Amino acid sequence: MTQAFCEAVPHKGELLNIKFLGAAGEVGRSCFLIEGSERILLDCGVKFKEREEFPLLDNKTARKLDRVILSHAHMDHSGFLPALYAAGYEGKVYLTKPTRDLTQLLLADYLRLQKDFSPYSQDDIDKLLTHTEIMEYNEWSERGKGPIRFQEAGHILGSAITELKMDGRKIIYSGDINLRSSRLLDGAKTGFEGDTLIIESTYGAKADRHVAAKDADKIFIDLVNGTLQKEGKVIVPTFAIGRGQEILFTLESYLRSGVMEKCPIYLDGMIKKALRIYRHNAIYLKKEIQRRILTSDDDPFKSEYYLIPKSKDRRDVFAQRKAVILSTSGMLNGGPVLSYLEHLGQSRKNSLILVGYQAEGTRGRALLEGAKQLQLRDKRIDIELKVAQAPFTAHSDHRELVHFAKSINGLKKVFVVHGEGGKSEELAKAIEKATGAEAIVPSLGETHEI
Ligand SMILES: [Zn+2]
Ligand SMILES: [Zn+2]
Repeated sequence: MTQAFCEAVPHKGELLNIKFLGAAGEVGRSCFLIEGSERILLDCGVKFKEREEFPLLDNKTARKLDRVILSHAHMDHSGFLPALYAAGYEGKVYLTKPTRDLTQLLLADYLRLQKDFSPYSQDDIDKLLTHTEIMEYNEWSERGKGPIRFQEAGHILGSAITELKMDGRKIIYSGDINLRSSRLLDGAKTGFEGDTLIIESTYGAKADRHVAAKDADKIFIDLVNGTLQKEGKVIVPTFAIGRGQEILFTLESYLRSGVMEKCPIYLDGMIKKALRIYRHNAIYLKKEIQRRILTSDDDPFKSEYYLIPKSKDRRDVFAQRKAVILSTSGMLNGGPVLSYLEHLGQSRKNSLILVGYQAEGTRGRALLEGAKQLQLRDKRIDIELKVAQAPFTAHSDHRELVHFAKSINGLKKVFVVHGEGGKSEELAKAIEKATGAEAIVPSLGETHEI
């Protein structure tokens, strides 16, 4: 594709609209509608609070969509997709192969956990899975009127930055990005060309500055060792996908080198299944990991320390003198981690190490803010165990996000999304200053012309 996007001057009446149907001033339910000669939806997720919240998308709009693009498998980007098919959408969803595999796993689990109300059925999930268009990184898809291309986003396996050309404009959608290379993935690509950017701002505040990976590892392993030395158990609530695998590999590496106290590492919830998908999609991981899998005696996916609970009541885990337990969900919304909290939460010997972003309104955030009691299902429990946070993240910090925007050639307009509590505003200001482009923090439901 040699045609430069900036050669095409948009005519009057050819304005494109972007509608912000979710993730505006919040983290969750990412969903953006691009309306020009085609109607393209970028992501369609759910927001987890006490009750789920969905994108502001009606059935009629869903039916009229031409294409849908999914940046990555996390539920705040993918969780509402099957509802499009329930509403009568018949088109495709463009995604990478790992994103398809991981989304299938997450959606099935989400549906299983729905008791009273579900916005869609298994049939709708099946319909979605038969309507996927697999994209490779760095290859243009010319199927619709507007060509699209994915580039590596460094956030989780299969995550993508989207480049979209339509009606003489070129939009870059960051999805969730991590510019740094992690244990498993290379960092996000930078240096795009485009006039419009939609960028996440999870850690967009000026004060959001990530520590170096080595220092984050040290803080985490020190916390783990501190508890193990007291013969306590460490609970690490994590997203099934992304952080879970990175943390597991961090633990494995420090166990092997002898820096970490020897103890079993239990995997509970979907982490184990997700791990299998990671291994099946190893060609999307860093070269170094691929090499270790090939020389199989050093395969980081297979370690004698990894265990899964033998029984439903997890008696074998509780019987261990010391252990590290990796369990979903990451923000303590649900999942087996709640059973661990119930059983281990009252002892000061144990600890809970939070490792990812804790959104407003979640139990994870409440604990970080010092809550000493938690409502778990139908009971209220006291929390005595040590609560700490390890500075791991799969998102870029303020400086890196500004750098990402600055590296884009031809940028005119920036929309800052996927951030809460003024973080988007702080990032918008910094991007405006660094790039000279107009940076806007859209409100929920707003439409902007580009
Ligand atoms: Zn994500
Ligand atoms: Zn997200």
